[in-house]
Amino acid sequence: MTIQENFCPKCGEKTENEGICNNCMRSSVEWATCENRIQCVICPTCGSIKKGSIWTDVPYERQKLTEELAYDAVAVHADLEDLEIAISTRETSPNRTNCTIFVRGILYGEPVYKTFETLIAWTKENCDRCSRLSGGYYASTIQVRALSRKPDQFEKEQALKIAYSIEDSVQEAGERLSFITRTGDVHDGVDIVVSSHSLGDTISREIVNKMGGKITRHPKLIGEQDGKKVYRITILLRLPEFRNGDIICFNKRYYEVRGTDSGLIRVFDLSEGKSNVLHENGVGFRLIGNLREAERADVTYLDRDVAGILDPVSYDIKEVKAHEWMRLVAHEKVKFLRDREEEVIVLVG
Ligand SMILES: [Zn+2]
Ligand SMILES: [Zn+2]
Repeated sequence: MTIQENFCPKCGEKTENEGICNNCMRSSVEWATCENRIQCVICPTCGSIKKGSIWTDVPYERQKLTEELAYDAVAVHADLEDLEIAISTRETSPNRTNCTIFVRGILYGEPVYKTFETLIAWTKENCDRCSRLSGGYYASTIQVRALSRKPDQFEKEQALKIAYSIEDSVQEAGERLSFITRTGDVHDGVDIVVSSHSLGDTISREIVNKMGGKITRHPKLIGEQDGKKVYRITILLRLPEFRNGDIICFNKRYYEVRGTDSGLIRVFDLSEGKSNVLHENGVGFRLIGNLREAERADVTYLDRDVAGILDPVSYDIKEVKAHEWMRLVAHEKVKFLRDREEEVIVLVG
């Protein structure tokens, strides 16, 4: 039995291949190519890059972007195995980067190496978002107001905090053109001006979710673009008359407001220590203050349902009703509010 011997038809050497030998295959294929010039359009303000006509946020810095562009410029043959690419870069001017790209791998059983030089040309252009931002572009205005009162500083800050955290999450989700254009204090609340209707709706819904209140939307036609009607929407958001933590007096009883639900105020009855609901018509309610403004005092003595507390302002001992549910203990601290109208002190726990 004889072993069949193959010879390469190109160089005549012995080979295990059916056709031409590995050496000849290696020299006949262009196993790696590289573009010698890469154009990259980048936004000088936010660093987004433009591919075709689409802008994309780049979640990393310039050096990594440079390496990625250089990497993408290299194309290798499908038969190349164990591909490794190393890149070294030099900025020759603010808008030119030279890259040296080392490529290696295994081709038909033998290691191969190649080195390329490529140039990245950076072009600066304001992206879609930055040009809208600098032009003050907006689509919706959320007017944060309150029913029969003005929102306080805490509420205004809370509303803005909610708005900015939603802006962050939509930006992270890749909605480049949803942003807060500006915010501003006005005499009866705060305005949040945003670049898209959906962002305006999301923010206002979340504020109502967290802080209560009602929304009314008022669209206004401002023109037409590409055959579509363009609207600006004013979203009027009225926070409820009473804030969470407000202490109100009704029929000579004190309640802590815990929320509002379709015409009802959820309260905590401070004399009974129980949850309850009141109808939101507002008649006969008197606002004492908010838990956030509560003072603290020491309980000096207890005598059945009466407690003496040390007024931290006047240093007088004030007698207050010691509600059973509070389980007051002498020499411990209590929180209280002053009801100026009735000249009583309201223990709030
Ligand atoms: Zn050969
Ligand atoms: Zn930009």
